Amino acid sequence: MVEFIFGALGLLLLAGFGWLAVGVARAARLHRTATERLAAMGCPRCGGAIGVDAAGVARADWLVRVHRAHEHARQNGRILRVDPCWRFPCPACEAPLVFDPSGTELLVAEQT
Ligand SMILES: [Zn+2]
Repeated sequence: MVEFIFGALGLLLLAGFGWLAVGVARAARLHRTATERLAAMGCPRCGGAIGVDAAGVARADWLVRVHRAHEHARQNGRILRVDPCWRFPCPACEAPLVFDPSGTELLVAEQT
């Protein structure tokens, strides 16, 4: 009976790790292809193509923000909290756009 319980727990653990590995691999793939996916999208407001240049700038801006946030957190002894979204203006209509590189949606940012 004890062996059965440990066997079942082991299987559950294995299934859990498998599920986690699949999730991590999917997120890594989505991140790797994010720039190309964003470049191929259209603005949700005007339908204009985002293009490779604007997508590259959006990614570079995000990397700069992450670096700054990391430095700020390190200097202040705080825990790093990073907004995963790329924020950039539409190259055609300048609508403020938000792209989550781990997802597939391009949205117009809420005006605050
Ligand atoms: Zn637009």
